[in-house]
Amino acid sequence: MHELSIARALVQTVTDGVAERGGRPDQVTEIQLRIGVLSGVVPDALTFCFDIVADRTPLAGAALRIEMVPARGHCPACLRPVTLARSMLICPNCGGPVPELIAGRELEVGQVVLADVGPAAEVPA
Ligand SMILES: [Zn+2]
Repeated sequence: MHELSIARALVQTVTDGVAERGGRPDQVTEIQLRIGVLSGVVPDALTFCFDIVADRTPLAGAALRIEMVPARGHCPACLRPVTLARSMLICPNCGGPVPELIAGRELEVGQVVLADVGPAAEVPA
């Protein structure tokens, strides 16, 4: 299961990232994630897997807050960035193909919130 391996990597990344900055992973209350709509990651499945993987680790009980990132591409005909419909690499303005993707495939850890100190360090994905 795709999301299970992502959840494992996420727990490791956040645990290491918080510890490296002198924080305590067991104080993490919220992990903010940015997921592109074209990344292939199913948010509900990832949340489900994260809860299972995080259980019995210091991150148990931490909540995932997932922000979906819309797909954007550069339309060669319109010469500007356009927002694409989910899973359609077609320009909404001119109907032409959009071969160049700018956003929509990301899977990034944003802010990690700790219980005591509030918003904490950015943890690179
Ligand atoms: Zn266009």
